[in-house]
Amino acid sequence: MTDQIILRNVTKRFTTKTLGDIVAVDDFSLNVKEGECFSFLGPSGCGKSTTLRMIAGFEDLTEGEIELCGRLVSSKKKNLYVPPEERGLGMVFQAFAVWPHMNVFENVAFPLRIKKMNKTDVEKRVKEALRHTSLTGLETVFPGNLSGGQQQRIALARAIVTNPKVMLLDEPLSNLDPKLRETMRFEIKDLQRKFNFTIIFVTHDQSEAMAISDRMLVFDMGKIMQIDTPENLYNKPCNRFVHNFLGESTFIRVVLQDGKVYAKGDMSQTIDLQIPQDADEEMVVATRPNEITLVGETESGYKTHIVKRIFLADRTEYLVQVGEQMVKIQTPHRVHFKEGEACSVKFLEPMWYPADDGTEDIDRERRQIV
Ligand code: ATP
Repeated sequence: MTDQIILRNVTKRFTTKTLGDIVAVDDFSLNVKEGECFSFLGPSGCGKSTTLRMIAGFEDLTEGEIELCGRLVSSKKKNLYVPPEERGLGMVFQAFAVWPHMNVFENVAFPLRIKKMNKTDVEKRVKEALRHTSLTGLETVFPGNLSGGQQQRIALARAIVTNPKVMLLDEPLSNLDPKLRETMRFEIKDLQRKFNFTIIFVTHDQSEAMAISDRMLVFDMGKIMQIDTPENLYNKPCNRFVHNFLGESTFIRVVLQDGKVYAKGDMSQTIDLQIPQDADEEMVVATRPNEITLVGETESGYKTHIVKRIFLADRTEYLVQVGEQMVKIQTPHRVHFKEGEACSVKFLEPMWYPADDGTEDIDRERRQIV
């Protein structure tokens, strides 16, 4: 498979009066393959939309270059910039609502009219796009009289009507209710299978990204943290930021002494864990709350007690003290402990991270901002 979207060392700086220079995207390189569904995932303000807007051509680059389908479309060095309408992209942006003063047919026909396509071809193409998005029969209806899902389908039909090779989707489902979002995800994937376009999908919603993507990029503060399949990002996150961002995380600071593992703040008992080869004296053990086993005090494991028990609809959550930290455990309802009860905990194959890999600080900074 060939690379259809290539970003080489792309940087975008905004100069603002109040905050000075903001580096929205920082030396960013990326290759997306033909037919791939690739998601950008990250917290608010991390640079997702700016990157997408640079690919679309709505935003110029400060440094670097972008290639689409084998053609250079933005290059700072070569002073090259191809405008959006000449990049051959389909786009569904959250802010790109359908036009209320045009009926469904005219909304979808709009990109073809700009290209000055003849009337017969326009009718043929629009009819086809409406068929693929289940909008046949609604040609003369105005968007205001349609549901949110139908309006979003108009935007999709308008994006596929030009047969683009690359589709850029920026939070396209964010205005829809959860059930409809799920349906639309499948519809987007179906359209992709039919038309075989490459997708870049921007979302805040990690389960949505996981459901739809072949690969995902997690970024923070304009920097790439990790690019991988949804499974690998969840099971082998490269640092604490990614671990924390995808799914729920529990981090336990540990101290290593004489080949043994101790929870920080409690040198009275060891934790039974396999120490990785290149471990430092102090490390962070990362796991998921549902991957910690909670058993009776007589069984083997780290000895502690239940600080808090919270009953949730599909599981029970416990907080236990591990050294100086409070650790969250999620169990099925059949595991039952009372608050204050003594117990043992075991950590199943956790990930290990250096105590100071820098990502915890990023997280702390953000928490202060929010
Ligand atoms: P969200 O998920 O909230 O949409 P995002 O990840 O898409 O966020 P961007 O919109 O790309 O983030 O913004 C990245 C950074 O660039 C932010 O700090 C933002 O404030 C800044 N930024 C974006 N556009 C501009 C602009 N036109 N002028 C100044 N700063 C901007």
